[in-house]
Amino acid sequence: MNDGQRPLGDMPADDFRHYGYQVVDWIADYFEHISELPVLSQIEPNWLKDNIPESAPEKGEDFGDVLKDVDRLILPAVTNWNHPNFHGLFSTSTSSVGVFGEMLAAAFDMKAMLWRTSPASTELEDVVLDWLRQMLGLPDHFEGIIYDTASVSTMHAIAAARERSDLNIREQGMSGRDDLPLLRVYCSEQVHSSIDKACITLGLGTRSLRKIAVNERFEMIPEALAEAIDEDVDAGYLPICVIPTIGTTSSSSVDPVDAIADICEKHSIWLHVDSAYAGSAAILPEKREYFAGWERADSIVTNPHKWMFTPFDLSVLYCRDLGIMKQAFSLVPEYLKTNDESTVKNGMDYGIQLGRRFRALKLWFVMRYFGSEGLIDRIREHCRLAELFASWIEDSPDFEMLAPVPFALVCFRACPDGTADLDALNERIMNEINASGEAYLSHTKLNGKFTLRLSVGSIRVEEQHLKKVWELLNEHLNGVVKASAKGAD
Ligand SMILES: *Cc1c(COP(=O)(O)O)cnc(C)c1O
Repeated sequence: MNDGQRPLGDMPADDFRHYGYQVVDWIADYFEHISELPVLSQIEPNWLKDNIPESAPEKGEDFGDVLKDVDRLILPAVTNWNHPNFHGLFSTSTSSVGVFGEMLAAAFDMKAMLWRTSPASTELEDVVLDWLRQMLGLPDHFEGIIYDTASVSTMHAIAAARERSDLNIREQGMSGRDDLPLLRVYCSEQVHSSIDKACITLGLGTRSLRKIAVNERFEMIPEALAEAIDEDVDAGYLPICVIPTIGTTSSSSVDPVDAIADICEKHSIWLHVDSAYAGSAAILPEKREYFAGWERADSIVTNPHKWMFTPFDLSVLYCRDLGIMKQAFSLVPEYLKTNDESTVKNGMDYGIQLGRRFRALKLWFVMRYFGSEGLIDRIREHCRLAELFASWIEDSPDFEMLAPVPFALVCFRACPDGTADLDALNERIMNEINASGEAYLSHTKLNGKFTLRLSVGSIRVEEQHLKKVWELLNEHLNGVVKASAKGAD
C-alpha cells in the first residue's frame, strides 16, 4: 500500500504478517549462510552515509523497498559478529532463540520501572537471575539485577561501595567538601577501561584508581595490593573498593580472588569481581577452580551477552546486599508512588535508569532452549577448541604462546627465525588476514610484545573454522617472510 491510501495508526496486521515472515526468512538465510560473508565490513568510512539521503522521506515508503535497502546498504556495512571466524576482542554471538526474545520484548515495549508497569519483566528477571546464580554455583544470598553492559554494572557496584562508606555523598556530593579524604579503588594493571570510566563518571577521578602490579601470568599480586592499601591508609586515604578480574580483557588472566578477599575482609573494603567475559565458564565444573573466592564478593558482574548466546545487551550484577544499591539510588517522586512498594521490587530503585528493557525474556529463552547441559557442552567445546589451537601453536617452530589459556582465548605471535621486528611482522599478518574478510583477529600488548588474540566463543564455531585460521596464519606468514627476503636481495 502506498502512502496516499494509508490509514492512520500502525501498519495493518496483514502487512505486518507479510513483512514479518520476510524478515524471519531473511534472518534464517543470514544465519545459514553467514560464513560466506566477510567477517569485517569491507566498506570505506562514510560509504553508508554517502549512499543515504540527507533527510527523512516526507511520504511513507513501501516497506518492501526498505527491506531491499537492508541488502543493498546495511549488510555490506555490517561487521558480522555472528560469523564463526569472528575471533577478535571477545567472540560473542547470539542464538536464534535470543533473537526471538528481542522480537517479543520489542513487541511488548514495556519500560520496567515499577512492578505494576511490568510484572513479567520484574518477576522473570528475578527468576532467570536465580537460575543463572545456581548454574554459576553462587550462594543464595546473591541477588541479581540486569543492566545493559558490564561498564554500567561496574559503575553501579562502585557507587554501592561508596554508599556503604557512610560519606553521605548521596546528599552532599563530592565537590566543595574539605571533610572527604581521597577515596581509592584498586584493580590490576590489566583491568578493563570500564573501571577507569566508572571512576570518571562517579566523580572519583582517575587519580582515585590505583593499579596494582601483576605477575608473569598477568595476575594481580595480592602482596602488592596489601602494601598499596597500607600505604594509602597511612596517607589518610580511604580505600572503598577492590576489583579483581576473572578473565582479563587482554589475556583472560585470573586474579587470585580468594587471597584478595582476605585483604578486603581485613579492611572492610567492598570486593567487586569483574567476570564480564569469563563468568559464563563458571557453569563448567572443571573451570570452577578459577572462580575460587568469588563467592566472598560483595558484587560480581557477568555478561550473558558475551558468552551465553544472548543478544547484546544483557549484563548481570549480583550483589550480596542489593539493599545498598537501593539506598544509593532509590528516589520515588510523587507520580511514581504506589502502595505495593513494601511487597514488590521496583526496578527503577536499583540504578540511574527509570525505564528498563525487558531483557530477561531472551535469557529465559536461551536457558530453556539449551538447558544448562546444552550451555555447558557449547562452552566446554569452545575451551577444547582454544586448547587445540594452542597445541598447534606450541608444536610449530614459527609461532609461540604468550599467555596461559584458562578459558577460550589464545594469545600468541609468529616468531620465525631471523626476523628482527616481530611486532611489525605480526601486525602485518593480522592486518592482512582482517582485510581479507576471511577471519578477524585482534591484538594486545603483553610485556611490550605485539600479541595476536584469538577468541573462541561463537555459537557457530567448529574445528574447521580454527583450521582455516591456522592455514591463513601460516600462509600470510610465509608470504610476508618471502616478500621481505626478496626485498633484502
Ligand atoms: C567486555 C568486558 C567489559 C566491558 O563489557 P561491556 O558489557 O561492553 O561494558 C568489562 N570487563 C571485562 C573483563 C570485559 O571482558
